[in-house]
Amino acid sequence: MIICMRQGATKGNAEHVIQAVKDAGLEPAPLFGTERTVIAVLGDERDLDMKKFRAMDGVEKVMPVLRPYRLVSRESHPEDTVVDFGDGVKIGGNNPIAIMAGPCSVETEELLLEIAQEMKKRGVQFLRGGAFKPRTAPYAFQGHGEEALKWMKRAAEKTGLKVVTEIMDTQHVDMMADYIDMYQVGARNMQNFELLKALGRKQKPVLLKRGMSADLDEFLLAAEYIAKEGNSHIVLCERGIRTFCKYSRNTLDLNVIPWVKKMSHLPIIVDPSHGTGSYDMVKPMAMAGVAAGADGLIIEVHPKPEEAWSDGDQSITYKTLDDVLDGINKIAVVMGR
Ligand code: PEP
Ligand code: MN
Repeated sequence: MIICMRQGATKGNAEHVIQAVKDAGLEPAPLFGTERTVIAVLGDERDLDMKKFRAMDGVEKVMPVLRPYRLVSRESHPEDTVVDFGDGVKIGGNNPIAIMAGPCSVETEELLLEIAQEMKKRGVQFLRGGAFKPRTAPYAFQGHGEEALKWMKRAAEKTGLKVVTEIMDTQHVDMMADYIDMYQVGARNMQNFELLKALGRKQKPVLLKRGMSADLDEFLLAAEYIAKEGNSHIVLCERGIRTFCKYSRNTLDLNVIPWVKKMSHLPIIVDPSHGTGSYDMVKPMAMAGVAAGADGLIIEVHPKPEEAWSDGDQSITYKTLDDVLDGINKIAVVMGR
């Protein structure tokens, strides 16, 4: 941390700050200039409440030097984390690009099984589908709940696919564990800290989607909540953020992928469906995501998008999925995946 004193701050102001730094167990290294004083602070500042220093008389600004997250930082763990689901399915490191695909909402058991079989044929590893749906309107379809989890589990048993589905309530953590392979934390719950902590106390992998207005520190600190409780099986997901661009549902922030790779050891995948909101943008942005270094993709697929119970406009058909996978595979070769 670096503390800059205001021009005109008194020696007494600086001494007061220096004492506060010492009282916090850190080492102050002051530089007394002719115009102003700067106090470098040596030691781990991450447990400090920097706002207290900002509030002290004579202080102009306080600049952190260390990033606020620890366990998920690349500094603490230089090697890439690989999340292992068993049966040879792994996400991260140099493993092949993982593909999660399926409907936005789980609609009927028959349709889910059909989609699962179609996904399996195409080499997809994970069946996605919402049993608990976070809908903007309370009148919209909210998901079939636990019944849909049973259908997902049966479809997984028949096809060998892994199941990833969204959790919205801490009370569902144990109940869901029996049906699924990976919890999905949706964008709207990225900062539901009680949910993150509860998932941190399990050892089941978590797919943590980026909140629609979360910056990189907030995204990684959300992952830190899970890791701090003891669960390091975390996969991040860029799913688009809110910007002034109104031509697409969200703006897929592909910059975040190389940033995450630089700052963290956790794998990151891309959701080109929610990231764009249009079925015809899924292929280019899926390919771009892989080119940017993503470890996988999560894609909404429906045999009749016009009849889907949610997100039909961004869902792709099986035929389009073939084309999308073809594009992804071409980029994956270039990326050595
Ligand atoms: C989803 O994947 O079904 C979903 C609701 O995504 P998000 O949380 O990114 O909006
Ligand atoms: Mn959806």
